[in-house]
Amino acid sequence: MKRELSVDGQLIKRGESKVIDLNIARLVSGTAIDLPIYVYRSKKPGPIILLSGGLHGDEVDGIEIIRRLIRAKTFKNLKRGSVIAIPVLNIYGFLNFSREVPDGKDVNRYFPGNKTGSLASRVAYNLTKKVLAEIDFGIDFHTGGANRYNYPQSRFAPNDSKAREIAAIFNAPISLESNLIDKSLRKEAYKMGKSIVVYEGGESMRFDELSITEGIRGAKRVLSHFGMIEEEIPVQNHTFCSKSQWVRARRAGLFHPALKSGEWVDQNDVMGYLSDPFGSKPVRIKAPDSGIIIGHNNAPLVNQGDALFHLGTLNH
Ligand SMILES: [Zn+2]
Repeated sequence: MKRELSVDGQLIKRGESKVIDLNIARLVSGTAIDLPIYVYRSKKPGPIILLSGGLHGDEVDGIEIIRRLIRAKTFKNLKRGSVIAIPVLNIYGFLNFSREVPDGKDVNRYFPGNKTGSLASRVAYNLTKKVLAEIDFGIDFHTGGANRYNYPQSRFAPNDSKAREIAAIFNAPISLESNLIDKSLRKEAYKMGKSIVVYEGGESMRFDELSITEGIRGAKRVLSHFGMIEEEIPVQNHTFCSKSQWVRARRAGLFHPALKSGEWVDQNDVMGYLSDPFGSKPVRIKAPDSGIIIGHNNAPLVNQGDALFHLGTLNH
């Protein structure tokens, strides 16, 4: 394990906690916007774990998970190792209640970033050089998109055995193998030899208590497993999905789900209905396979081809 821990050139000594305000760029008003990074280091050596939220600035459940962990003093007096907690990675998007940075770009497609590039690229560059470089592994907290609900789930790359192990310890209700996306935080971290588990729960701009609670419990299980905190969270039933597929709308219309995330389906079960506004007979939406619903669309109106359910499947 590493002896030194420094973030943005600031040394964190053993037994020390620090808030480091990382400055990346100014707003058009000239206002300097800092990205607060909370670092907690035990006197005893151990893993350096990143817990981060808000890479997409409107994904509030992840932000709330980290906020509550900090507020509850979970990382004070760590028994060993270090925690780097960042509630809002994309502080610029957060200010705008937006997934992206103000120039409309998704930071999670700009890793490892560039010192002199666009704002998204600069945020990615700073996180890569000043945070990812310091950690052993991490958990990055996300949610579904607008109107897209994700049942609490952890995601890891199929060939990343460390991430698989961390996801198992985290023990979300569902875990899912998912391939690394080019220029994402997860892929760039993987290339640096640092495994990141992505936790997904809830939807953007909406608090979902189940997702928040499961995220907090999962983070605590990981810290407890590595001997960093004393609190132990009981293990729960868990479903591992090796694959997933989207069930899409065969026609546009009003969407009436009959099932919701977390429920199991058999092939050809009716998952919901699509109707026109004029009283015609609704069209049934049938399950293309057996599995568990790991996400659903909360939109009442959908276009043809829109994703309605995300179905996790086993043993295929
Ligand atoms: Zn996200």
